[in-house]
Amino acid sequence: MAENNINLWAPWRMSYIKSLQPQDNSPSCFLCQYWATPELDAEHYVVYRSTQSLVVLNLFPYTGGHVLVAPSRHVPQLTQLSNEEHIELSCLITQTQMVLDRLLHPEGYNIGMNIGRVAGAGLPDHIHYHLVPRWSGDTNFMSNVGGVRVISNELRELHQQMSAAWSRSGSNS
Ligand SMILES: [Zn+2]
Repeated sequence: MAENNINLWAPWRMSYIKSLQPQDNSPSCFLCQYWATPELDAEHYVVYRSTQSLVVLNLFPYTGGHVLVAPSRHVPQLTQLSNEEHIELSCLITQTQMVLDRLLHPEGYNIGMNIGRVAGAGLPDHIHYHLVPRWSGDTNFMSNVGGVRVISNELRELHQQMSAAWSRSGSNS
């Protein structure tokens, strides 16, 4: 069904992403801000951080379990990443999928990256992968919840479950 795919990379989400950015004189990029404040990981729904990458729940998810995987460096292009960073991001995407498989049992995933505003990137200067778990019929979730309001209790619960799953599985990245 084409309907299942129409909303996934919609540029209208830009306004929601922008609303996440801090207002004061802290860095204007929320991923950089998260990276710089490990003591606030729970508040920011950071599920895992390695030496150079972050795994964080998307505050305005398309579906439950929508996760962002990003390098710590503020770069807009894949070509600016080192091989080591590429490998770590790939490992983290795989590991995130394993955790989500165990916790949420999705029927499929969309995994991808928007490069540049023209492609729908809400934060074009700091690249990040999207992992979007998919279930048949999940367009109801997306139209009712995705980008419209934050279900903070659900995010908090998922954050706790994912963090716990991560520490149980140990780090392989
Ligand atoms: Zn950044």
